[in-house]
Amino acid sequence: MSLKDNLEEVLEEIEETRLHSLTGEKVNLIAVSKNHPVEKINELSQYGCLNFGENKVQEIVDKIPLSKNNIKYHMIGNLQSNKVKYIYDKVVLIQSIDRLKLVKEINKRAKKDDIFVDILIQVNISKEEQKGGVNIEDTLDFLENCLDYKNVAIKGLMGIAANTKNQNEIRTSFRNLFKLKEDIINRNYENVSMDYLSMGMSGDYKIAIEEGSNMVRIGTKIFGKREY
Ligand SMILES: *Cc1c(COP(=O)(O)O)cnc(C)c1O
Repeated sequence: MSLKDNLEEVLEEIEETRLHSLTGEKVNLIAVSKNHPVEKINELSQYGCLNFGENKVQEIVDKIPLSKNNIKYHMIGNLQSNKVKYIYDKVVLIQSIDRLKLVKEINKRAKKDDIFVDILIQVNISKEEQKGGVNIEDTLDFLENCLDYKNVAIKGLMGIAANTKNQNEIRTSFRNLFKLKEDIINRNYENVSMDYLSMGMSGDYKIAIEEGSNMVRIGTKIFGKREY
């Protein structure tokens, strides 16, 4: 299968699933291009796929100058605060914010530049320690602490389900994140939007969409297996 075929199949399945999802909302596709060459990214952009997810700062920095102008990168991996400076103004959305230290560092730089940096709060919905993210029960506190940093704009939540075959466990964790998003909306925080609920990867994006995701991050199903 070609990249084009893979993309078309994924887009069709997203659309089919959306028709019976909780919200019926349109779903944004982020093609996760980590460990894949920029040529493939540029090729996909010709088919209208313009949003790409990466998990390493260095890889983003290397790829941007070689990428077509209309391509947008999302940071979806663990971010160290000393590397914020390389990407805060180059990516369209930082999806992996789970520490106040990161928020402070981004805010400091964004304020100096007089810009706003869009972020998602990453919530740990799998209870797997290594996945990162704020604990679900701590998220409201974390969000409220972020509100002091005016140049960081909270746009929603991101979560990664457990790596398990147990579909009920996956579905429950997505449902919990959706409920948290609704709870945050109902609290009407000033300058907080819940535009994006980023959940679902190659193995579980249909369940995620059914449970109200409007942003899926899909790597393997578009690019094939990553070579490490
Ligand atoms: C790698 C990665 C993905 C994509 O995973 P696939 O299973 O290849 O679709 C999605 N989200 C995050 C945070 C990732 O690190």
